[in-house]
Amino acid sequence: APGILSGKRGLIMGVANNRSIAWGIAQAARQHGAELAFTYQGEALKKRVEPLAKELDAAVVGHCDVTDGATIDAVFEEVKRLWGSLDFVVHCIAFSDKDELTGRYVETSEGNFTKSLLISCYSFTAIAQRAEKLMNEGGSLLTLTYYGAEKWMPHYNVMGVAKAALEASVRYLAADLGPKNIRVNAISAGPIKTLAASGIGDFRYILKWNEYNSPLRRTVTIEEVGETAAYLVSDMARGMTGEILHVDAGYHVVGMKNPEAPDL
Ligand code: NAD
Repeated sequence: APGILSGKRGLIMGVANNRSIAWGIAQAARQHGAELAFTYQGEALKKRVEPLAKELDAAVVGHCDVTDGATIDAVFEEVKRLWGSLDFVVHCIAFSDKDELTGRYVETSEGNFTKSLLISCYSFTAIAQRAEKLMNEGGSLLTLTYYGAEKWMPHYNVMGVAKAALEASVRYLAADLGPKNIRVNAISAGPIKTLAASGIGDFRYILKWNEYNSPLRRTVTIEEVGETAAYLVSDMARGMTGEILHVDAGYHVVGMKNPEAPDL
């Protein structure tokens, strides 16, 4: 039977290794029939991304560092050369200096604030500008956010501010691109142990806290985020845009510690 993404071509940005959320999304998208292309950030990650791409019969369209607009242009040029058009883009890119993902937000430096917002928020808009040109029959853009955009979280600091801006940009991009039938959505994922997450202070505590206090009494996997992402970029979600969908074992509905949870 054809999958929900049969005949769709998607660009996956943000695979660092096989624990990346982007990898979970790529696997699910492929399983549901999509044809994929990957970007990588720098030579070191190229060596990790190439064999993963091969596993999914995906193309590798080159190096992309979102702080360098020319590299964004280059990968979209390569997608255009390869496919001529594009159905979806998955943006799984964020960065902040590790030294500022601990302690107080009030200490954030101007340099790291600017860099974090550029990489973690503006890059999605920069990508939307390029993707729009290849989505003549409509399309779907997806980014990844976290609950730290909505509520204070220890250590998340400037990344919470960047994710809040990213979530607002999902709404503005959805309004701008809606008339072209390009949908723009985000998944707000619960905490998952990835390379990027290892930069966040006390991450193990955050995982345990979610496990004890989320309605499903566990954390989520990259496979689960991947399945929801496959649905969101598919025509099954064709009526949805500007949405922030939580894939977090329900943690976002919780207002207080579970009294039955053990002390941490
Ligand atoms: P990851 O480390 O596997 O992926 C982060 C990716 O960002 C890497 O592939 C890295 O190359 C890329 N990146 C960083 N700076 C870049 C730049 N200048 N140019 C291009 N790419 C750059 O970690 P992940 O947890 O899979 O992160 C993916 C997304 O999911 C991020 O937006 C993250 O904030 C978000 N997210 C993660 C969690 C979690 O707990 N892991 C929860 C919610 C949201």
